Amino acid sequence: MSLLTTGGSGVRVRFAPAPTGHLHVGSLRTALFNWMFARHHGGTYLLRIEDTDLERSKTEYTESIITSLTWADLLPDEPFVIQTHRDAQHRHVIEQLLAQGKAYRCYCSPQELAVRCTKATNEQDELFFSYDGFCRRRQDAHRTGTYVVRFALPDNNEPIFFDDLIKGRITFERSYFDDFIIARSDGRPMYNFVVVVDDAFMRITHIIRGEDHIANTPKQILLYQACGYQVPQFAHLPMILGPGGHRLSKRDGAVAVLDYQKDGYLPDAFENYLIRLGWSHGDQEIFSRAEVVNYFLLENVGKKGAIFDIAKLAWVNSMYIKHKSDAELLAYIQRYLAPALRTEVGWDMQTLCQVIGLYKDRVKTIRELLDEILALWHGPSLFDVPQLKTTLHNQVVQHLDTMLTALMPHEIIWQAADLKLIMQQCASTCGIKFVDLAGPVRVALIGKSTGPGVSELLALVGKREALRRIMMLKSALL
Ligand code: GLU
Repeated sequence: MSLLTTGGSGVRVRFAPAPTGHLHVGSLRTALFNWMFARHHGGTYLLRIEDTDLERSKTEYTESIITSLTWADLLPDEPFVIQTHRDAQHRHVIEQLLAQGKAYRCYCSPQELAVRCTKATNEQDELFFSYDGFCRRRQDAHRTGTYVVRFALPDNNEPIFFDDLIKGRITFERSYFDDFIIARSDGRPMYNFVVVVDDAFMRITHIIRGEDHIANTPKQILLYQACGYQVPQFAHLPMILGPGGHRLSKRDGAVAVLDYQKDGYLPDAFENYLIRLGWSHGDQEIFSRAEVVNYFLLENVGKKGAIFDIAKLAWVNSMYIKHKSDAELLAYIQRYLAPALRTEVGWDMQTLCQVIGLYKDRVKTIRELLDEILALWHGPSLFDVPQLKTTLHNQVVQHLDTMLTALMPHEIIWQAADLKLIMQQCASTCGIKFVDLAGPVRVALIGKSTGPGVSELLALVGKREALRRIMMLKSALL
């Protein structure tokens, strides 16, 4: 992504997805807000793949995340970091904390823990077992056996707080925390710890992420302080909600970004929609990237969750489709939805562009546009005759006959303007309105009575094929 220069201001942000699934709509919005913040401040936007959950992380998901970010034009400004590749550095910092007495080995067995942990609740009112710090004080220093590494919570009762750039001050009571584990018994460092070490390594100045991470923030702040790292600023984005007001989930429809790509949403339209979901600049709905970069301020991000509205997304998409050139839309279709389009339909590029031009004001997605192109190329294969008979004029067969006779002569010029004149003459010969003739001809050509101008459709379908389709409808109605 190339708007404005990067890196000059010292602002460094990162998007840090876990490759445990395809990129989620909410995660793409997080990436986008990080990108906008970086660009607004002339900073740097980075990517880190957080794959330390070895059981759930998969390479195919990393690939899928990169594919989604490529589609969205949100690749990072520097090579991305893979968290597990930094395992040795994580372990090294654990050793340092142990040497400094800021962490300690805990040898307590499950039976011992059952005695030494008391029930407590955390800031989310969830029950947890608060460890009494026994191993921190034990004297038998040369003990052997399996152990976990615990963080030695600094000895004071001060609440922990931070000034969130979106939500304001957030405070946590000390009683919500115990000497939490930072490395498992197999030596693998825990999530909250590696995030801190990596954010410091990547020199992150602002952490912009989903509000589901608020509960991790106080632990991470304590770890930043213990490691001697500068604590970054935090901004927690409200969740994207489903229509029922709960967190958007698969129950509400597609949540994977790539599903929206397949369904025919343009990346810039999709992102325009996501930007507005929880951020506003007056009443403006459609933004160019340059405008977004110019206007973006975290202060204008809403504090509450925003509801994902597919109808509005479709509207935004239709606006973007209308404003793209026919050639751009064709290139997009060939790149993302139908690479084999030119072998499936026999039109040349110029004719394909004309077809696109005819339909682009009428569709909400590129998928619909593709379906229309294919429908026009292939024509209807079957007609719902009983249904048609209820809607079409009872003389329709004679009208189609008149049309066929008028269209057959060799000398007619097969162009929309001339075809329109011929149709107007036919309608008056039959004593019917133009629309009453256009309707059945459109049904013959594309299987439905509504759509673009029928003379344009006739011109694109070509003489032989148009006559064949009109004859086919006529025989079906006999
Ligand atoms: N890996 C976390 C996630 O996918 C993000 C952690 C963070 O941004 O600090 O939700």
